[in-house]
Amino acid sequence: MSEFDAIFVGAGHNSLACAAHLALKGWKTGIFERSPTIGGAVQTREFTLPGFRHDFGAMNLSLFAGSAFHRKYANELKAQGLEFAPVADCFASAFPDGRWFGVSNDLEKTAARMAAFSVADAATWRRLVAAFPAEAEHLFRLLGSPMSARALAGTAWNLWRKKGIAGALDTGRLLLSSPRAWLEENFESPHIRATLATWGMHLDFAPDIAGGAVFPYLESMANQSFGMVLGKGGADTIIGALSGMVTAAGGKIVTGAEVAEITVSAGKATGVRLASGETHTATRAVIAGVAPKALTGKLLPNGSGDVGFDTAMKKFRHAPGTMMIHLALDDLPDWRAGAELRQFAYVHLSPSLDAMSRTYQQAVAGMLPDEPVLVVGQPTAIDPSRAPEGKHVLWVQVRMLPAEITGDAAGKIAPAHWDKVKEVYADRVLDIIETYAPGLRNKTLGQAVFSPIDLERENPNLVGGDQVCGSHHLAQNFLFRPARGYAGWNTPVGNLHLTGAATWPGAGTGAASGYMLAQQLGGRWSRRFHTGERGQGAAAHEA
Ligand SMILES: Cc1cc2nc3c(=O)[nH]c(=O)nc-3n(C[C@H](O)[C@H](O)[C@H](O)COP(=O)(O)OP(=O)(O)OC[C@H]3O[C@@H](n4cnc5c(N)ncnc54)[C@H](O)[C@@H]3O)c2cc1C
Repeated sequence: MSEFDAIFVGAGHNSLACAAHLALKGWKTGIFERSPTIGGAVQTREFTLPGFRHDFGAMNLSLFAGSAFHRKYANELKAQGLEFAPVADCFASAFPDGRWFGVSNDLEKTAARMAAFSVADAATWRRLVAAFPAEAEHLFRLLGSPMSARALAGTAWNLWRKKGIAGALDTGRLLLSSPRAWLEENFESPHIRATLATWGMHLDFAPDIAGGAVFPYLESMANQSFGMVLGKGGADTIIGALSGMVTAAGGKIVTGAEVAEITVSAGKATGVRLASGETHTATRAVIAGVAPKALTGKLLPNGSGDVGFDTAMKKFRHAPGTMMIHLALDDLPDWRAGAELRQFAYVHLSPSLDAMSRTYQQAVAGMLPDEPVLVVGQPTAIDPSRAPEGKHVLWVQVRMLPAEITGDAAGKIAPAHWDKVKEVYADRVLDIIETYAPGLRNKTLGQAVFSPIDLERENPNLVGGDQVCGSHHLAQNFLFRPARGYAGWNTPVGNLHLTGAATWPGAGTGAASGYMLAQQLGGRWSRRFHTGERGQGAAAHEA
């Protein structure tokens, strides 16, 4: 048995960032990870053939590169080996009619491509890009602050002061809009609308879901303004650097160590019991980077003592699932729409807003989509070090899929467990890619398929293959993530905190939930004025 100041359940990047900050403040930290490899959804492994390094989940590290944590600890991370691979040609869409559109960080290039679809849209794009810094200030401030009354009041005051009441209401309207509403108001070309709307599908925002507009808006404007960032050698560069910071500051990371229970005494978390039976104590905090259902369903066998909280954790809603297909390739795909597409980090195959809406609806109804949205990642186009000389890896993300299959929208695959149908469904996906990039199968040297259930087996936080660990629809975001009263990484159990994608500000590699919690525990945020918060850890922004 060891004694720590803080114990972390799971070594996702949020927990690692939180542990690194606390360890540097002198806390004795211990991280227990069930898998043999740390990093959770951010890992890079040789899934197909030796020398071919595939990002298991996250590939785009722009959120980490632009994070408050990176701003604060850039030198320490670099000293621990963090290296980025910057992307100039960020994302594109190829269309069934043989056309394509893409966003590069060179405004003239993007605008010229857009003008080929619509001169009016190109003018709108220039206007939006010019206005972006002023808009981004408020959105990034909102997304980078705790959900406390004080922080929200500060953001609102700043917004009103800089933009006036009408401007502030416009920002509020953007936050509430669906992707379709925002896209149809601003762009006339169906191709441009579809290209941008696909960013909503990276989360669970099909085109008609309120609250989704901000994701296509932020991604497209940020990619245009700053480009995109991948990890040099693999996304796990951030994990190597974070874990290096933790251990250099005296923290301990143990792999193959599943936490079976969080021990509680007199209403306070006191430590953990591992599946092996080992116990460890935590004098100041237990920080669980887990999916809410695992907290009350498993780790707290007697519940939290608050029925409302336990019910909210059990009812936490997950988004539809993802399949990942990793290919080792002789050469990059030959995109029919244009050779230039080979330079892009992401090529989206999602022909229209209506096709995306249909796919989402099929997935939530338990059907295998006939035409899933495909995000085809080409990391070796940017970072050749991930594959042997002249070879490539392809990262294919299949959105959106049901966890349990009740039928097939194409009427070809009989309902069955994912273990039985994943290869045949992967064939459907590869057939779709072949229509846009003929000859892909002939270039394939190796293939690894992860069904939504395989993703959950790798990382139990990806419930049903939900890559964002919980729907981000308005009723489960902002003050309601993961539940009303608990947006401050707090729980009804003293000294017990939640972190990770299920908590504010949600999924992605920005380490924001872990870093904000670390600042709260380490002293930067006070414990006053938290909006609607109950229990321990209520926070308010002091800055
Ligand atoms: C396929 C996919 C693609 C993605 N693409 C991107 C992208 O390109 N860009 C981006 O910004 N984001 C992307 N994301 C989202 C992003 O990767 C995640 O939101 C983020 O990494 C989640 O981090 P986390 O700190 O919540 O922990 P996770 O990464 O979920 O890690 C949690 C860890 O806890 C461990 N654990 C759970 N229970 C226990 C237990 N009882 N005992 C011990 N250990 C336990 C798990 O094994 C896991 O290692 C993607 C996600 C997926 C799955």
